[in-house]
Amino acid sequence: MRLITLEEHFTAQEIIDENNKFNEVTGFYKNMVFVGNSLTDIDNERIKFMDEHRIDMQVLSYTSPVSDKVPASEAVRICKRANDILAEKVRAHSDRFAAFATLPMADPVEAARELECCVKEYGFCGALLAGQYQGHFYEEKSFFPIFAKAAELDVPVSFHPAPINPVIQDYYYTSPEYSNFIAGQFASAGFGWHLDVGIHEVRLILSGIFDKLPNLKIIAGHWGELIPAYLERLDYMMTPQSTGLRKKISDYYKKNFYITPSGILSSMQFEYMVKLMGAEHIMWAVDYPYIKQGNFYEFLMSAEFLTDEEKELIAHKNAERILHIKGEN
Ligand code: CA
Repeated sequence: MRLITLEEHFTAQEIIDENNKFNEVTGFYKNMVFVGNSLTDIDNERIKFMDEHRIDMQVLSYTSPVSDKVPASEAVRICKRANDILAEKVRAHSDRFAAFATLPMADPVEAARELECCVKEYGFCGALLAGQYQGHFYEEKSFFPIFAKAAELDVPVSFHPAPINPVIQDYYYTSPEYSNFIAGQFASAGFGWHLDVGIHEVRLILSGIFDKLPNLKIIAGHWGELIPAYLERLDYMMTPQSTGLRKKISDYYKKNFYITPSGILSSMQFEYMVKLMGAEHIMWAVDYPYIKQGNFYEFLMSAEFLTDEEKELIAHKNAERILHIKGEN
């Protein structure tokens, strides 16, 4: 069965160098450098990994090519260059790769323009956004042109974690009773930045963006970043009467959101998510090269709670439909 995976990361040395001009290489970026060879590689290790795991196509994305410390004009330039480089890579292997655009959030109007260019000229499948911009979450009005453009082009926007606010890291995740290393893991990929994206999802819904853009599609990795388990509670505590929204929070979630595992091979979460969202709202993702261990194909194929039709949807048909990726035939 054809398998398309959606959260597969790439970067180019040129873009790392550009970014390093504006940043101290710490934390997240250091981590990117740490897996640097796997991130920049296309032809060797990556394709071998895909073949071994029966992955037919990866949708490539930069996790974060520009930090929010980069001034707007430079961010626009670096993102354009990043997308150009990625487009070349995809063009060279169009049977194995597709791509999400990277956008200069410092300039939302330019970002919308860049998204349009990437989709129309390069055939990109949507955009991937990471974290926030200088403490501003993306439901704020200034970012609306980006989502309006995504809805107009009928492409999804994927939300990806990034380092959280240091004040929140200190308050919630740091303790004198365990090491700072553990606090850092807890605050980031262990838990904290997933909660951060989950909160971002709810903020988007509460802002009313899906009443304005009913066809906007959001992709949430890591089985929805903790929010699916809380939908009933969110509905109960924030009803349409109090939010002023047309529908319940869970109604937007189940209609406008698409969920991927991002390499978390938890069959209990998988079964729960199929029951909650329906198989047509789930797509597959490995989170390469950060996650390389596990049998991503077998895990999906051996799910006893799925029909063959549902497996087809999750493995490739949803991605073909939502990301406008050409089908097998
Ligand atoms: Ca990732």
